Amino acid sequence: MNEEIEKFVGKYSRKMWISMISRLGLNLNIWEILRYKNIPIYASRTNCGDSDWIIHTDKCLSCGSDLKLLSNQESFYVKLLCKCGVSATTSWTKERLRCLISDHNQIQRLLDEIVDRKTAKFPGREIFWTNQGYSVEDAKRKVSEWQKQQSDKSSITKGSRNHSVRCVEYYLKRGYTEEEARERIKKIQTTNGLDWYVERYGEDLGKILFEDRIDRWINSYYSRDDINSINLSKGRTRQQHIDKNGLEWYNEFQIVSKTKMTQTKIGRGLIIDPCLKSDKIIYYEKTSFFTNYSIRNYYDLINPQYEKIAHRQFHVDHVFSRKDGFVRQIRPEIIGCPLNLRIIWWADNLSKGGRSDFTFEQLMKNYEKSKIEYGYPY
Ligand SMILES: [Zn+2]
Repeated sequence: MNEEIEKFVGKYSRKMWISMISRLGLNLNIWEILRYKNIPIYASRTNCGDSDWIIHTDKCLSCGSDLKLLSNQESFYVKLLCKCGVSATTSWTKERLRCLISDHNQIQRLLDEIVDRKTAKFPGREIFWTNQGYSVEDAKRKVSEWQKQQSDKSSITKGSRNHSVRCVEYYLKRGYTEEEARERIKKIQTTNGLDWYVERYGEDLGKILFEDRIDRWINSYYSRDDINSINLSKGRTRQQHIDKNGLEWYNEFQIVSKTKMTQTKIGRGLIIDPCLKSDKIIYYEKTSFFTNYSIRNYYDLINPQYEKIAHRQFHVDHVFSRKDGFVRQIRPEIIGCPLNLRIIWWADNLSKGGRSDFTFEQLMKNYEKSKIEYGYPY
């Protein structure tokens, strides 16, 4: 066996090993080769070469599922295929690191390092100042100065922030209970929002989208503590927001800020007002809603190889195209169903254009299958 390995590694360069084994169908195990040759394996592509990120397992330490081994130039790294400790953020979490590293101290070191790297540009951390040559004492002073400055800033804006009739705080100040406040907001949302959704998306879809939005809005407020913490939320990073208020709150916070930004952009003439959008754009947006739903809930089905989905990487493609869907006025939830989606290389997607690789019959069959076999709810 070892002879075979020596022969193999002598013949091919490191970066070819994985692909040559599968291409030639060799009876060699890449994990064994790396172990035998004492070659380090890193926890991720971006950390290749950093000895702190070397791992010593070929399985997830939490669930035991196999890791995918990949190479980048001369280095080898792994990809976790399981869902252990997966969060909405792309950055490492303690739970995710536990899948690969058993040493508690090493995990803590890595997490600290990540935080330091991320916050080195943030004046609220000592490292920001020590990097600029301040002593530790001076850095501490600088940080507390900065914090004071921030809290002064927020007290100026505090008054104006709770004046919106869509804010629970607004009603609490006027003597309503929290329950009543939520009811009030719901009512306002119902009278103002639903019309807009129905007008934009039609009776049926408008209601679905609207209720989805309301649910997220209302459920994002839980308690007095939450409301207080929202008022203290300015100046935080994304992760700090999520740690403090939870992911659900953060998503709603994002929607609200995006809406405000959109309004500003419309006002300045930078983008088109949604009510002036063409039918085609509206149709594409509708399909996007269902496409995103399918990607969120049927990720494994659509992307079983866990290819990287990104610009100039793999794209999610509608096999029966959106263009044809628009021309033939097919309901958007059919076009966005999981079994009409697949992963293709970006260049292929570009050359495909608006072509459909499914017939209408195939599309409908897959839509039914999505509903019956996979519980697609639309
Ligand atoms: Zn796992």
